[in-house]
Amino acid sequence: MKKYLAEHTRLFLLSIFLFTAGVVLVWNYFMPLERPFVIDDSPNPVIQLTDEIEKYSVNVNMQVLSDPGGIWNDSQIQLSSMDERFVPASGRSAFGLDGKTYWIRTTIINHSSLDLWVLRLSNAIVDKMELYADEQSRAAGFENGKRLDDHYWAYELRLPVDQPVTLYIRATTEGSMILPLDLISTPSYHKILRTEYLLFGLYYGFVLLMAAYVFSMYIFMRDSAYIYYSLYIIFFALSQLFWNGLPQELLGEQSGIVELLLRIFNSYEDIFLFFFILCLWFALFFLDKVLQLKTYAPIICYAAKALHWASPLLLLALIFHWPGFSTIAIWYEFIAVLILIAAAFVSVFRGNIAARYIVLGMIAIFGLAAPAVMYTFNLADYNILTHYGYQLGSVAEFIVFTAALSYQTKQKERERIQAQRQMINNQEKLVRTLERWNEELEQTVSERTEKLVQSKRRRNELLQNISHDVRSPLTVVQGGIRAMMLGIQVHPGEQNKHLENLYGKVLYINRFIDDLFELSLDDEEDETSSYQTTEDVHIRQWIEAEFVFLEEFIRIAGLSCQWSIHAASDPIMTINPHDMRRVLTNLVHNACKYSLANKRVTLGATIESDVVIIRIEDEGQGISAEHLIGIFHRSNRGAQSNLSAGKGLGLAISKEIIVQHEGTITAESERGKGSKFEVRLPVSRQQEREIVKDN
Ligand code: ADP
Repeated sequence: MKKYLAEHTRLFLLSIFLFTAGVVLVWNYFMPLERPFVIDDSPNPVIQLTDEIEKYSVNVNMQVLSDPGGIWNDSQIQLSSMDERFVPASGRSAFGLDGKTYWIRTTIINHSSLDLWVLRLSNAIVDKMELYADEQSRAAGFENGKRLDDHYWAYELRLPVDQPVTLYIRATTEGSMILPLDLISTPSYHKILRTEYLLFGLYYGFVLLMAAYVFSMYIFMRDSAYIYYSLYIIFFALSQLFWNGLPQELLGEQSGIVELLLRIFNSYEDIFLFFFILCLWFALFFLDKVLQLKTYAPIICYAAKALHWASPLLLLALIFHWPGFSTIAIWYEFIAVLILIAAAFVSVFRGNIAARYIVLGMIAIFGLAAPAVMYTFNLADYNILTHYGYQLGSVAEFIVFTAALSYQTKQKERERIQAQRQMINNQEKLVRTLERWNEELEQTVSERTEKLVQSKRRRNELLQNISHDVRSPLTVVQGGIRAMMLGIQVHPGEQNKHLENLYGKVLYINRFIDDLFELSLDDEEDETSSYQTTEDVHIRQWIEAEFVFLEEFIRIAGLSCQWSIHAASDPIMTINPHDMRRVLTNLVHNACKYSLANKRVTLGATIESDVVIIRIEDEGQGISAEHLIGIFHRSNRGAQSNLSAGKGLGLAISKEIIVQHEGTITAESERGKGSKFEVRLPVSRQQEREIVKDN
C-alpha cells in the first residue's frame, strides 16, 4: 500500500483535491443556506409579485395534495372539505416515487406593473401538467392560463393587478414526482430560455463532436472500446435530451417520433430510463474493456458480467411494462454505479494506469450529478446543479474518459512499438547468435579437417613405418625357410635352435600384424597407442635377449656378429620392447645391407646407473658426410606403393621411437670405413632429459 501510494501520489492528491473542491463548490455555492425566498408556511401562502423580482419559486409558497389514484377532478379539489388535506410544500419540489398524481395550490397577488407572467415547471419528464383557477379568481378577471408551446410545461398567466388568484395545478407522472415550479416575468422567461438554448446548443454540439471523434477513433484503431464509448455518449445524450425536454419542446408532443416513443414507453420518464439504461449498459462494456476487469478485478468482472445480462432484460421489462419495473430500474442504476466505482478503484489499486482517468471522470460526474440524485430523493433544493448536474458532470467525464481512451491507445501503441523493438532486438540477437554459431562451426570444421589431415598423415606414417619394419624380419624368415627348403644347414646340429629363432621372427612379424589391426580400430586420438604399450624390463636381460635375436639376423644375412655387454648395474627401465626391437632391427638391417658378405657387425651395450648406451657398428660402405647430415629425416612421405622400396624411412622411424623414450640416437660414419650408430636411453627420465637434436 505504501509503495503504491508513493508511486501514485500525484494522482491521489489530485483526485482528493478535485473531489473536495467539488463538494465544497456544490455545498457552498449551489446550496446556499440562506434561501432566496422566505418560506410561507401559513395555511394560505401567497406569492406577492413586485417589479423588483422577476423570478419566484412557487415551491416556497404552495400546498400539495397527493392523489395516488388520480381520482379527483378540478371542481372536487376546490371543495372546502379538501382544504385541510393540502399541506405546505415548504420549498420542497421532490415528492417521492409513489404518487401518480399531485395537486398543487398556490395564491398569487400581482403588485407589479406587468400583467403577463409565466408559470413554468422545470421537469420535462412529468407526463402532464394541467392548470385550473378557482371561481373567485375568474370573477376577478383571471382567464385560464394559456399553455406555451415553446416549452414543455409552461403556462402564460394574465394576472389582474392587486387581485389574489388561486391556482390548482394537477401534475401526473409515472416515476419520481419532482415539481420545481417558477413564476417568471415574461421578458425574463424569454431571456432564461435563450440562455438555456445556448447552453443546450453548446452541450449537444460538444456531445456530437465527442461521439464523432470517438467513432472516428474506432475507425482508425479498430478497438471496440471506442465503439462502446461512442454508443455510451450517444445514449447518454439521448437520455438527457428527454430529461431536458428538448424533443417535446422542439418537435411537439404530437410529432411522430415522440408519439411513437410515448406509445411504446407510456411516459417520458420511461423513455429517459430506456436511453439511460442503454447508456449504462454500454458504459459497462466500455469500462470492462478500459479497466481490463478480467486481469485487474476478476471478481468484480463477474458482477459486471451479471449486469451485462441484466441490462437487456431490464430494457425488455421497460418496453413491456413489467410490474415493479421502476424499483428494479432504480436498484439497477444504483448497483451499476457501485460496481463501476468499485471496479475503477480496484483497477487503479492493482496498477491499471488507464483506470486513474476513469476514477477522475467518475469523481467529476458523481460530484456534479450528486445534487441531481439528492434532489430526486428530496435531499436538495432545485438549482442549476440539481437540474443540469448530469450534463455538467458528463461534459467533464467525457473529456476525462476520452483522455483515458487516448492514454490506453497510446499505451497500446507504446507496447506495440516496444514489442516490435523487442522483436527486432531478438531477431538481431538471433542473427548474431547464428553468425557466431556459423563462425564456431566453420572453425570447428576447419580444426576438424586439419585434425583429420594430420591424423591421415600420421596414419600413413604409421602404415609406412609398419610396412617398412616388417620387411627385415620377413626377409630373415624367408631366408631361413628357403635355406631349409634347399636343405642347407646354416648351423649344423642346431636345427632346433634355428627353427626357434625363425619362430621368434614370425612372432615378431605377428606383432606388426597386431599393430596394423590396432591401427585400423583406433581413431585418430589413439593412433599412437602402439607406442604406449610399455613394460618394465630388467635392462641387462632385455639387451641380451635382443642381441641374441639380432645375432641370428646377422648370421642369416651372411655376416658375422660379435656382441658384448658392460653392466655396472642392472636397473629396471620402462620401455616399449616391441618398438625398441624395431629400432635395433632397423639399425642391424642397415648394417647388414650396406656391408659385404662375411664382414662383421658389432653390437655393444654399456649399462650405467643413469644411462644405457647401445652401439651397432659395421664395416660396410659407410655414409658420406653430406648424406649423414639429414640421415634421420623421413625422406619419403609419399604414396604407400613406394614404401617397400626403402627410401630413408628406417632411421626416421628409429629416431621417432627413441625420442618417444626420451633418448637420443646418433650416427658416425666415414665413407668406406663403416658406420657406428649409438642409442642412449636415460635410465631415470625425470633426471636426465636430453635435448634431442637432429644430427
Ligand atoms: P631405408 O629404410 O631405406 O633403409 P634408412 O633410413 O634405414 O633407409 O637409411 C637411410 C640411408 O642411410 C640409407 O639409404 C643409406 O644410404 C644410409 N645408411 C643407413 N645405415 C647405413 C649403414 N649402416 N651403412 C651405410 N649407409 C647407411
